[in-house]
Amino acid sequence: MSHDLLDPTEALHLILDVCTPLPAEDCELDDALGRVLAEAVIAPEALPPFDNSAMDGYALAGGSEPLPAGSEWLIEGEQAAGDGASRARRGAWEIMTGARVPDGLDRVIAVEQTERLNAPPRVRLKAAVAAGDNLRRAGSDVAQGVAVLAAGTLLAPNHLMLLAALGVAGVRVATRPRVAVLCTGRELVDDAEAVLASGQIRNSNGPYLAAALPRAGAELVHRETVGDDVEAFLAAFARVRDAGARVVISTGAVSMGRYDFVPEALQQLGATAIFHKVAIRPGKPVLFARLPDGTLFFGLPGNPVAVAVGLRFFVEPALRAMLGLPREMPWRVPLATGCTKKPRLRFHLKARVAMDAQGGLTAQVLEGQESYRIRSLAQANAWAVIPLEASLLPAGSLIEVYGPSHLHSPDFGGSHA
Ligand code: AMP
Ligand code: MG
Repeated sequence: MSHDLLDPTEALHLILDVCTPLPAEDCELDDALGRVLAEAVIAPEALPPFDNSAMDGYALAGGSEPLPAGSEWLIEGEQAAGDGASRARRGAWEIMTGARVPDGLDRVIAVEQTERLNAPPRVRLKAAVAAGDNLRRAGSDVAQGVAVLAAGTLLAPNHLMLLAALGVAGVRVATRPRVAVLCTGRELVDDAEAVLASGQIRNSNGPYLAAALPRAGAELVHRETVGDDVEAFLAAFARVRDAGARVVISTGAVSMGRYDFVPEALQQLGATAIFHKVAIRPGKPVLFARLPDGTLFFGLPGNPVAVAVGLRFFVEPALRAMLGLPREMPWRVPLATGCTKKPRLRFHLKARVAMDAQGGLTAQVLEGQESYRIRSLAQANAWAVIPLEASLLPAGSLIEVYGPSHLHSPDFGGSHA
């Protein structure tokens, strides 16, 4: 490896070394989607809360022997969902799905397996029914007092369904990391209505990061575009501080150009540079530093795809650690067509994962991998990561694939690597 380029795995270790989980805060259930549990949730109630019927039918009582087909039972009452406790004596109760089973009854037969008779109103069983049939026992889904969701759970609608059913009104979640974005470059134009003057381009990194960061679990607290001078950057940095950012991401001005002033600005801020330049493509000039007050600083090079890679492979793992989430595991997916690359750099390739005719997944590396090409990024739905030393990968090789955002990849767990 070139002596001044850091191994990307080592770079990630250096980042994770200085990322600590953020404190917990209270969150109402209505606001909890996408948040990460800071503590396990203990079931405050049993689920179901009472014995109830799994069927529309008739509730009956009997001994250990099934009640036989052909037997007839007088209808003694009716119990619908929402009715409170009732006391049964003998005979059958007409019962609806979800209705509390009258005390003293211990089985339900489905209405389809009965015949209703009159004078006196009674029911004849067309099948035998044993103790416990078609009952949903209190606590059979969740017993009161058990841990139902572990700390580190990323709350999805299925979790909210469970918490709502248990009467959990609020949860303790990890505080969202407060992140600020500073886009540098005197060529940048933020106003989409403005006509570009000669030499100007539109700022696409700013809107990209503003969209991607909340989806990655962060709270965007400040965003600003500055020119290519240290003074403007430092003035913007003061506003970043006022906004209470814990993580600052800059784009542009970290390479070798004459106007690449970010390292100098960081020096003036008293920051400790942890690394600058990593053996990756795109995004090689990425810089990571720590300010005296502990604020983390990611200096991403300005090319849009370098920004996307820096966010996905360095910032997002840091956010995960702050949120108390475990390390993310890539998928391993076969390459649809072979590819070659330069050794000594880890490549992050815009890719499309698609289903083949059998429903298996394949990863297609897209055309147009240069770091200024945004259109291919818009066509991509995944990143293919090709390790440092690999150079030639035939079709069918298993490669590491990452979804577009760490919180929006299916959570299948995983323990490889
Ligand atoms: P730099 O890292 O500042 O040398 O920028 C590298 C390339 O990315 C240059 O072509 C810049 O014009 C471009 N660039 C920098 N910042 C942005 C941005 N916010 N949006 C789109 N392109 C950018
Ligand atoms: Mg620049």
